[in-house]
Amino acid sequence: MAMTDAGFGPMNKALREAYLPMIYQLAGAKDAVYWQCIRCGTVIETSLVNGRPTPPAVCAEDQGGCKRSADDTKFELASRGAPPERLEEAIRTVAGQEGLSPALLREDVAASLSLSGGGTLGPSFEELVLELGDAVHFSRPQDPILLLLWACQSWLGPDVLPERCLAYLAFTGPKSSGKSTATEIACALAGGTMISGGSEAAIRAILDGDETGSPPRALGIDEIDVKAKQLPDLEGIFRTGNRWKAEYPIRVPKAEGRGWETRRLNVGGPKVLNYRTDPEDALASRTILIEMRPHRDAEMIVRRLFDDPALERVRDSLEARAGDAKERWTSKRMEEHMTSAEFIARVERLQAQFPRGLQLGAILLAVNDALGFDAEDVISKYVAEQREDSLQAVREILAALHEEHTKESVDGEVRMANADVHAAVNYRLKDGGLPPVSVREWPRIRRELGIETTRRGRGLLLIFGPAARKALELEGSAA
Ligand SMILES: [Zn+2]
Repeated sequence: MAMTDAGFGPMNKALREAYLPMIYQLAGAKDAVYWQCIRCGTVIETSLVNGRPTPPAVCAEDQGGCKRSADDTKFELASRGAPPERLEEAIRTVAGQEGLSPALLREDVAASLSLSGGGTLGPSFEELVLELGDAVHFSRPQDPILLLLWACQSWLGPDVLPERCLAYLAFTGPKSSGKSTATEIACALAGGTMISGGSEAAIRAILDGDETGSPPRALGIDEIDVKAKQLPDLEGIFRTGNRWKAEYPIRVPKAEGRGWETRRLNVGGPKVLNYRTDPEDALASRTILIEMRPHRDAEMIVRRLFDDPALERVRDSLEARAGDAKERWTSKRMEEHMTSAEFIARVERLQAQFPRGLQLGAILLAVNDALGFDAEDVISKYVAEQREDSLQAVREILAALHEEHTKESVDGEVRMANADVHAAVNYRLKDGGLPPVSVREWPRIRRELGIETTRRGRGLLLIFGPAARKALELEGSAA
């Protein structure tokens, strides 16, 4: 049996598989196959034909489909046994209850259902949020949610999002808050290009896509207020470019001969920026503001992400999901969707819960809906959740675990795999008749107890440094 380095915790595959029947039962599994219509996105249920999965002949109207026949659309295998969203819901419920990794459970479910491709059950929105939240030191739990939705815009593009459905992202905060690095990370997640300053010719080359072969999906700029003073065009580009197609005249040297000519370049598209001083009000209604707080290790913590597969993994997930979304959505369909009474009611609910302005709320929800995310659920969980104070019990369990593993410490610091520690904590909480710590609460508790994290392979390693030892009342006891 494969055991993890730390040598404890019910996280190995054989034990996880014991949870699969629970997941299927919860999802209401039966002998059926689920197909998604690539034209309308509806999931259609079919029975097995001679024991084999066979796609439907028509996108069934009585199941909410578009009535197109198999000649006019294509059906992709979505899941077996239960509809994909019920399976997903069951996976997350069981993961939350049992303190297991939803990603690992999902892999087990996919394997046991022999799903083809494996791309149908990518990481959930919540997992992407947690992954990003683990890597960047945000001051509020909703910040990684906003950053992810912003970054998705550039992968969806004007094929899916209507012309004026586009938001900027701006980081504010003092010098040591890591806002420059946060800007670079956002730009990278969006597949964009940073304008590093220099000359007007350099900006033109970026907009033309001289280096990359195509215009950038997004633009990033550090300290826009300072750079705009050196390069007046920058201000114009940012002022006019908060839509998908926005031509802006830029003076360039003539291709042949002397003198200058004016060329009109598309400067539209998502942008991420930060200000050295206060943000400009003019951009505010269509700009998502994320305030970064000063942090001793801010630069280091965000820098770590660059050497880390996490950034790439999150970006690849966004790109893949957006690719699927483009099969289902057009900007015209999105416009119709966004003018429906139901959508407008959701924008108002979001605004009450999470005041960001109706315009931004509508853009964020449009991005969410195109990608099939569940940002409203994730937002209500993170923003409204009241955690009961089982912190003292967790603290005692972690102190005990720390003591048990002190002999394996590295440079005086105990390091243990995150998944193992989380599982062990829940195992012992259960033993004591206490509720387990859910996957979404766990990172917050770790932070409150000063436990640092670092990436190791596909997992996260917990480091019990001085802050954690102090929080666990272990100061001075490590080797
Ligand atoms: Zn259809």
